[in-house]
Amino acid sequence: MCHNVVDGRFHTQCGHFISMATRTQDCFQDDCVFSSRHPCECRSKSCIRKMNLPVKNPIRISKTMCGDCRTREKDTVLCERYCV
Ligand SMILES: [Zn+2]
Ligand SMILES: [Zn+2]
Ligand SMILES: [Zn+2]
Repeated sequence: MCHNVVDGRFHTQCGHFISMATRTQDCFQDDCVFSSRHPCECRSKSCIRKMNLPVKNPIRISKTMCGDCRTREKDTVLCERYCV
């Protein structure tokens, strides 16, 4: 069964994973419709038509927070400043 591999950056401070690129990992099984070994003319119902869960592949580790969390944090700070 094939699966997608998601390359991305992992932010250790907030634990978020930001995907940058997705590629498919071929399982090279001839009974999997996503595999390059699977014959195009095959119409068999028994072939695997589902992909496995994507695997996250952190190619970069960042010790900071991700952009979303940084924005949120800034909003919170602003809000506290103006609302309290
Ligand atoms: Zn496959
Ligand atoms: Zn098939
Ligand atoms: Zn985050």
